[in-house]
Amino acid sequence: MTKKSQRLLICAERCESKCCRSTPPALTSEDISRINKQISDDNWIRKIEESEKIVHIVEKKKESRDCYFLTERNLCSIYENRPLDCKLFPIFLKIKENKVGSYKIEWLVWYCPLTQEVSLETLLEEARKIIEDYLEKEPQIVFEYQTAMYESGGYKKKHFMKEEIITIN
Ligand code: SF4
Ligand code: SF4
Repeated sequence: MTKKSQRLLICAERCESKCCRSTPPALTSEDISRINKQISDDNWIRKIEESEKIVHIVEKKKESRDCYFLTERNLCSIYENRPLDCKLFPIFLKIKENKVGSYKIEWLVWYCPLTQEVSLETLLEEARKIIEDYLEKEPQIVFEYQTAMYESGGYKKKHFMKEEIITIN
């Protein structure tokens, strides 16, 4: 079984995609343009403008808490294009310090079955690779993620895991 199908089995069948029925994913501009290439209407996206910062999240289905993209079989209909927030899940990050090429990152975790079945270390390693890639090529996307997470309440109920410095040469 591939890593992807093993996780789909855990998420869709054993967990019934709980996280896709809770806080809606926060979006970066890159997520929006990537998803818009796959989706032809704009019913999937919601704007939040309660503070001076305008951010976007994925809309919920009408009359339910399910993510707009969750299918009846508990799968994600945009899996390959899913938002950064979903790719990192159940790991989250906050940038605590930002100097030239050096970022102090606070890693957070939301305990879900994957932390047992896959291991926290593996999930953190994967999240770190994703974030290092963005910090190298498009660091502003990581800051957009952070702003959208703050403004949409996406940081609630997360547990501190560790702090580390990522250096980009
Ligand atoms: S990521 Fe975790 S909470 Fe979300 S569906 Fe998978 S096992 Fe459940
Ligand atoms: S975009 Fe996909 S992975 Fe993310 S919450 Fe929605 S259904 Fe789940």
